[in-house]
Order: sequence, then C-alpha cells, then structure tokens
Amino acid sequence: MEDENPYLLLTPGPLSTTPTVKSVMMRDWCTWDEDYNGLVQDVRRRLTSLATSEAGYTSVLMQGSGTFCVESVIGTTLPRDGKLLVLANGAYGLRIAEIARRLGIAYELVDSGELNQPDIAALDETLSKDSHITHVAAVHCETTTGMLNPVAEIGRMVKGHSRCFILDAMSSFGGIPMDVADLGADFLISSANKCIQGVPGFGFVVALRSVLEDCSGQARSLSLDLYDQWHEMEHKGGKWRFTSPTHTVRAFERALHELDLEGGVPARYARYAENHQLLVDGMAGLGFKCLLPEAFQSPIITSFVNPDSPDYEFRSFYDALKTRGFVIYPGKVTVADTFRIGNIGHVQPENIRELIRAVETSMTWRPR
Ligand SMILES: *Cc1c(COP(=O)(O)O)cnc(C)c1O
Repeated sequence: MEDENPYLLLTPGPLSTTPTVKSVMMRDWCTWDEDYNGLVQDVRRRLTSLATSEAGYTSVLMQGSGTFCVESVIGTTLPRDGKLLVLANGAYGLRIAEIARRLGIAYELVDSGELNQPDIAALDETLSKDSHITHVAAVHCETTTGMLNPVAEIGRMVKGHSRCFILDAMSSFGGIPMDVADLGADFLISSANKCIQGVPGFGFVVALRSVLEDCSGQARSLSLDLYDQWHEMEHKGGKWRFTSPTHTVRAFERALHELDLEGGVPARYARYAENHQLLVDGMAGLGFKCLLPEAFQSPIITSFVNPDSPDYEFRSFYDALKTRGFVIYPGKVTVADTFRIGNIGHVQPENIRELIRAVETSMTWRPR
C-alpha cells in the first residue's frame, strides 16, 4: 500500500506509523461485541507480557492521550490521606505535580532542574524524613530534553522504603528494554502513539494487580477511574465502560504484531539507537551541539542547541525541512534555546541519512 504522507514525523508522538497499521483501521467495530472485546483482551495480555515475565501484573486501557492515563493513575491510586512525592526534571514530571495539585492531593515536588538527573541520596533522605509520603512518581525518558532517568535506582530506593512507585514510561515503553517488576514499579504508564507505533487515542497502565485491587472507590473522577475501568475489562471479557476508540485499538493490535515481526523490543531499541547515533554524528558534522551529555541521552528524542547566528531562525529552518519531507519538533526546555528531533516511529536509518542531507541544504545561515 502506498504511503501518502507528505512528510515523516520526527516527533515524540504522534509519530509516523506503517501503512499497514493505518490500513487496518478501514473497518468498523462494535464496542461491546465479543469479536472486538477479544481483541482488547489480546492487547491487554500482550502488554502485560511485554512489560514483565513475572506473574501478578495486569493491564488496563484508558481513553484519551497519555496525560489522561497519568491523571487516572494519580487520581485513583492515592488514598484520601495519601501523599505523592514527584521527582521532576522537565515538563512531564512537573505535569504530574500539577495533576496532584488540581485534584487536591497532598504532594511534594522535588525538581532537580532540566539538565540534572534526580538525586537518589536526596530521595532516600526525603522518604526517611516524611512518613506521610505514600507514593513516588518519576519519569523514565523525560521527553522535554530526551534525558533517560535512573529509574532502576529510583525504584530500588522507593521499594526499600516500602512506598508505591508510579512510573511514567510514556515515551520509552516498547522502545527501550525494561521489566516493570525489576524496576519495582507498581504502575507503569504509556500510550498507543509512542514506541509501540500505534495511532493516538488511548493510553495504558501495567499494574501490580494486588495494589490496583486495593484502589476501589478512591478515584476523584468517574471517567478516569482506573480501578473501575480495569474491573470492567477484567470481569466483562475486555469491555470498556464507555465508548472505546475501536479503530485505534485495532491499529494498536497490528502495531504490537509488527513489533514482534521486527524482533521485539531489543530489535526496536537497536534501530532507535542507530537512528540516534546517525543523527548525533550527522548533526555534529554540520556544527550542531547536543544539549545533554551522551551519558544522560536516550535514543528516543534528541535536543539540539539552536545555532547562535543572527541569520538562524527556527521557524524558517522548520519550514525548509518540512518542504523536504521532515517534520521536527520545537524545544520545550526553559533553561536553553533548543529544538528536538525524534528517532522513534516508522523511521529507518536511511531516513536519518536523508534528513542530514536535508538539514545541510536547509542551512541558510553560517555556522560559527
Ligand atoms: C508524550 C508523553 C506524555 C503524554 O503526553 P500526551 O500529549 O498527553 O500524550 C507524558 N509523559 C511523557 C514523558 C511523554 O513523553
């Protein structure tokens, strides 16, 4: 099937999907029929086994973008007298704290700044001092910068203090090998349109079943009640409580199949890592500098410092690349002037080589 997209999305989601993922959406499904609900159960099983080989985990799908899913986890898992510690080093960590604030949930925000990783010793101290803290939330790949956070160490510390660990692995799950049990995460959150390479419309949570089962009646919202959503799916054979994004779920099931065909998460990770390396090397050859040191850098998305030239303007650069078939992403960092290029989605190393040539021909300014 011909791919009719005028450009490739080099963004952290929604991202470029395969023509076959898009084509399976050309059919309508009944939201409560067993054909469709069987598909939902298959997706839930695959997600749980993708997340861990250990028993005791389950998964829930939730309508909306990834943030809806984060909000459903925060709003459902924190008891009335609970307190959330949020480790932030970018917009997505800060967003978790903002969710807690809006929902009237007690929280403490520890912001290490966009260019630093969370401080594990400080986490140890905070958890020792404050016995009111019941839950800790952290972001795996902070998409704001592309920083990979040390979530295994964070998880070990949180579990050492017997607290509940909520992990936003939105932009990394399916693209970086991980095991939710090894990470000590009670709740792992991601969405359809990131590294699994589906289309947008829902998010999902892989949860330690025994912990989720204790969350009945706690949700501050009806539609974002993660427990009720799970209970319905679990006990009614894959049924959603409210209208489900049927076409998106079908596309996601195809995307999971294509992840298997590619060779699973290790193979996908290798492709993303190769994309990232080609990108960084190619851009360096044209005078672009990365924001982060390589040791902090994920293979998911890369932040570059905007060239320091009076002739450079992001918008014109963006437009020039768009006409050449590539859509890049503006920066989100507040402490530096940057733009971002994503390595994820249906993007091959050859596409990155083409991108570098397109960047070179789009450079109307003189690098310093
Ligand atoms: C994409 C993303 C989200 C969710 O964003 P939405 O726009 O709501 O899908 C949350 N956290 C991280 C780290 C992300 O990359």
